Amino acid sequence: MTGCIFCKIIAGESPGTIVFRDGQATAFRDLLPAAPVHILIVPNKHIDSVNALEDEDEQLIGHLFTVARRIAAQEGIAEGGYRLIVNTNAHGGQTIFHLHLHLLGGSRMKHPMG
Ligand code: 5GP
Ligand code: ZN
Repeated sequence: MTGCIFCKIIAGESPGTIVFRDGQATAFRDLLPAAPVHILIVPNKHIDSVNALEDEDEQLIGHLFTVARRIAAQEGIAEGGYRLIVNTNAHGGQTIFHLHLHLLGGSRMKHPMG
């Protein structure tokens, strides 16, 4: 989608530290990491948010979790643990409207959430 920063990173038109890429998804390090490991896992096709998902996207969303598992192992945080977050719209704190899964780890996450 024109003007979408994540679409530009996926297309290689904007800088991003890409740690994984396949035909369906791309993962890159968050610009302002909130944890020692903070990676964003995004579908290669533009989807605004969870609210915009269609039935045909089910496999794709499952794939994002598979990618998260692989990257957690790759980053050495699988055993210690990690947090996966998807923010949606204003109350969820979404600021970039290209659906993304945050993978946070490398230290103990704080509670409570929200
Ligand atoms: P949201 O608040 O939408 O769930 O998360 C958006 C995330 O994208 C934030 O954690 C923010 O730091 C990150 N971010 C915003 N702009 C860029 C960018 O240009 N490059 C990268 N790598 N991350 C970005
Ligand atoms: Zn996009």
